[in-house]
Amino acid sequence: MPSYQNILSNRYTLARSWTLEVAERAGAYQQARKALTSMTPDQIKAEVKAANIRGRGGAGFPAGMKWGFLAPKKEGQEVYLVINADEGEPGTFKDRTIMEKDPHRLIEGCIIAMYAIGAHKCWIYVRCELVLAIARLEAAIREAHARGFLGARPFGKEHALDIHVHPGAGAYICGEETSLLNSLEGKRGEPRLKPPFPAVKGAFGMPTIVNNVETISAVPDVVAMGGEAWSNISLLPPEMKDGGTRLYGISGHVKRPGVYEAPVGITMRELIYDFGGGMLHPDRKLKGVIPGGSSTPVLREQDKVEAKDPKHPLNKWHGKSHLDVPMAVDTYRGIGTMLGTCCAIVMDTSVSMVEASRNLMKFYAHESCGQCTPCREGTGWLANVLDQIAAGRGKPSDVDLLVDISNNMMGNTICALADGTAMPMLAFVRKFRKEFLEAAEKGLPQSARLDEAIRSQLVR
Ligand code: NAD
Ligand code: SF4
Repeated sequence: MPSYQNILSNRYTLARSWTLEVAERAGAYQQARKALTSMTPDQIKAEVKAANIRGRGGAGFPAGMKWGFLAPKKEGQEVYLVINADEGEPGTFKDRTIMEKDPHRLIEGCIIAMYAIGAHKCWIYVRCELVLAIARLEAAIREAHARGFLGARPFGKEHALDIHVHPGAGAYICGEETSLLNSLEGKRGEPRLKPPFPAVKGAFGMPTIVNNVETISAVPDVVAMGGEAWSNISLLPPEMKDGGTRLYGISGHVKRPGVYEAPVGITMRELIYDFGGGMLHPDRKLKGVIPGGSSTPVLREQDKVEAKDPKHPLNKWHGKSHLDVPMAVDTYRGIGTMLGTCCAIVMDTSVSMVEASRNLMKFYAHESCGQCTPCREGTGWLANVLDQIAAGRGKPSDVDLLVDISNNMMGNTICALADGTAMPMLAFVRKFRKEFLEAAEKGLPQSARLDEAIRSQLVR
């Protein structure tokens, strides 16, 4: 197992790590004290910008830039912080480890972030199934209040701070930030048109910063070591502006599924073979890996980097396998996929890609909120066509129909769910076309059923 320094997860292995007593003894709240008593909000914002944190929720938007978009407060306006802890992406289970094992890290990050952006109120919107995370966060908030880290004068500072935990109701779409805000406001959980982005008009019409759990949990260490030093933990050159350390998840057909911390820029090969312990069944080879949650297009070992422009940063990896490209937001875009939530699902040669995609499409058809016709109808069609193929009622032209439907969904909808459905579908068909054509002619045998290691990740 590689030995990188654990920063975000450094308290995970302590006994009762979720309690204030243990967390504080191991350094919790020192950075919140430092930030509130000796730094200005602008100084904190500058450090977060220098840290080059690419949002850990999946989109990879620079966190420092997002904070910079906050609309200036007008008379009578409030600014809010909302933490997206709705972690619902199939195959993704990293944020829950922070909330369950070190909730005080997230709360400390929220305190610093609220002070920096001028907010007094924060909601942590948590997926309701994460019962333990909710209980531990609520207990941690009570402890932080009792110690004077939250409340009217945190650390003696005249900047009242309050954090509320808001359990969601388990809809995947409520992980989309504007849908989450609607749900928080007690409305139907449907995405809003952007712009305006939440930083301009968010919760209850007020400027709101919506950040992922892991993103905000990085803030205490950014304050501790300074933004530049935190950014430089990344294995990538600084000009790529993808800094720090992050939580990598790995599941499916590997020996050691789990969540591991490592710098930004390790490769998928390292994640699978060093952290994940290699393929679960040594006699079966790797067939494909979904790199960062189910909305990200599948990768194969045999696909090689083609950097046509010599100035493109990917040129350095020209000719190498996709598994050997550093895992980062822009490098993965360059090879036609996305880093997403950085939680990979590994599939060996036993997996039917038709069945894997059929499971996923059924999930998306179920979770589409139905506002946009291309998404509502497209996700349902994809699932239906795949059902027909699987049942032996398909025809070869159905494979092109899958491509057609997907192409008509992309870029034509309110939120990213439609694109996040169409892009993986297109990649499955492009990379495993022969398998789809065969299934369209013969149907799928019983043996194509996904085993538990994969089914538990693809179906929520
Ligand atoms: P996005 O690119 O639209 O936005 C990313 C963030 O940047 C948002 O907070 C947005 O408000 C902000 N932003 C972007 N442009 C801005 C601007 N001009 N001004 C101010 N703010 C701006 O992506 P998204 O729809 O929020 O997220 C899609 C991603 O979510 C997918 O790629 C997927 O990987 C991920 N996802 C994650 C989960 C999970 O469980 N973590 C679940 C579903 C999807
Ligand atoms: Fe709803 Fe799909 Fe439209 Fe998103 S793309 S708003 S999930 S219908």
